[in-house]
Amino acid sequence: MLVPEKYIIEENEIDEQEVGRDPPGVHLGYNHTEPSVIRDGVDFIAVIDQSDDVYRIDYWGYDFGRMYITSEGVQELGQRLAYEDDEIPSWTLDPETVDANDPPWWLPDDTAIDPTAACDNCEETVSVREVVTPRHQPVDVDGTVFCRDCWEQR
Ligand SMILES: [Zn+2]
Repeated sequence: MLVPEKYIIEENEIDEQEVGRDPPGVHLGYNHTEPSVIRDGVDFIAVIDQSDDVYRIDYWGYDFGRMYITSEGVQELGQRLAYEDDEIPSWTLDPETVDANDPPWWLPDDTAIDPTAACDNCEETVSVREVVTPRHQPVDVDGTVFCRDCWEQR
């Protein structure tokens, strides 16, 4: 369940064909940085402002669907974006779907719209959406966060 039942106004079945069409709204994506882990669950959520206190949510991944939720529900979804400074967030915003000058109210305080991290190998700064954080430390390189180039050339 994406949000607790009490925040759900209505849930709709949607056609599989509707899934993955670029929906409007603010997009949240699961940040898959661990190449050896296969994950099930939802990995994409679009938050679409409908009217006062009603938000449409399109989601997909292992499962897919559409629901209408309250603003409390959206606030709860936004909590997925909260993370500590020294960690790689597991959920990120698609910065192209967010106006950085006027971010949605439901983001947690201090949410970075497009956070970056430094590669432990080449020290290049890249988007946190472009890093690899292997669960098992590779034997030949030091570090826990790698840019994709270093990871692929390892
Ligand atoms: Zn690198």
